[in-house]
Amino acid sequence: MLRKGHFLFRSKVEKIMEQAKSNKTVRKYWSVQTGREQYVAGMLLSSVGDALGYKNGKWEFCQSGERIHQELKELGGVKNIHVCLPEWIVSDDTVMHLATADALIRNKNCLTKGNLYSLLAEEYKICMNDMEDRAPGVTCEEMVEKLRPLEEGGYRIPFNPKGGGCGAAMRSMCIGLRYPRFADIEDLIEVSVESGRMTHHHPTGYLGSLASALFTSYAVRKKPVREWGAGLLECLELAKTYVMSCKGIYVDENIKSWGYFENKWKGYLRLRNILDGKNEPSFPADFDKVMKRDQFYTMMSYDNWGGASGHDAPMIAYDAILACSGDWSELCDRAMFHGGDSDSTGAIAGCLFGVLYGLDNVPKCNYKHVEYRERIEKVADELYDLAMTK
Ligand code: MG
Repeated sequence: MLRKGHFLFRSKVEKIMEQAKSNKTVRKYWSVQTGREQYVAGMLLSSVGDALGYKNGKWEFCQSGERIHQELKELGGVKNIHVCLPEWIVSDDTVMHLATADALIRNKNCLTKGNLYSLLAEEYKICMNDMEDRAPGVTCEEMVEKLRPLEEGGYRIPFNPKGGGCGAAMRSMCIGLRYPRFADIEDLIEVSVESGRMTHHHPTGYLGSLASALFTSYAVRKKPVREWGAGLLECLELAKTYVMSCKGIYVDENIKSWGYFENKWKGYLRLRNILDGKNEPSFPADFDKVMKRDQFYTMMSYDNWGGASGHDAPMIAYDAILACSGDWSELCDRAMFHGGDSDSTGAIAGCLFGVLYGLDNVPKCNYKHVEYRERIEKVADELYDLAMTK
């Protein structure tokens, strides 16, 4: 039986569904518009974006985008980079993204959310054995330690006032691949929020998970990119209703900390003139300069490290997707090669790009030998089957 609060969440979702049925524009972007190849491209380029932004720890932790671009130039540009071991190891982002995907796939014959959440907690624990040289986030490590997948509700951790980092946002794109359709919005919200707060129990953290999953689902449905931010704002209202429905799960703490993520996104969308999703985005005239972008990313950040928070990791990825017009090299310049948390923004942006544009205009040397390629392709394949059979 549904709890009273949960009933409110479901009735809001149903109301939106009803309204959408009579809205031609919404119906246009209702279902899956991409094929299996784009799923593979999304998962692969996410890991490529991670490896490029990470550069074995060197670029993730370099705070000067200009220096990174200088070193990139010396390597012959992104078109000349052979992303493979040992120079281009994937980082914790890919390992945790694959863990999320593995849990979604393992849950394929079971419809209960509790089972899925236990599997996610289990996979997050297992994946911590594969973190050597991959620079896992401190919050992820500490919180995964607390998870008890075999106990009832053991996937929950207490509210964490410092849980606003990007560790949840960097690993949830596959949730959008699993639940891509308009009609899947209830599942997408619940699973992205719950998987996110297994390590980042703070709205700024787990709403980042929601944003990455939601944007990926939009990419699958080919919803125009300029509308994604406005879509996120609408979805936040639903997510808030869901979080409030979870009685006994730190509701007051969550609601008190809710505003930061939403306000930051509203401010950003206003700057780009896409608050309502109706206009083409506008960028400052000097935004082609690496230093200017670094300054902007820092300005939007929580503590001067652009992309390290749950709100701005998907924001930088989205900004790069908006600006790159399907050009992979341009995307990398903006989302993978900057002075902030470049592997996480790269992992999110890479996935969105792959789902939108596929692999056709990406140099083969960038993805052909990326670490875990076979595993990544298999997972993408299975996610596509799951999304199509539901
Ligand atoms: Mg990383």
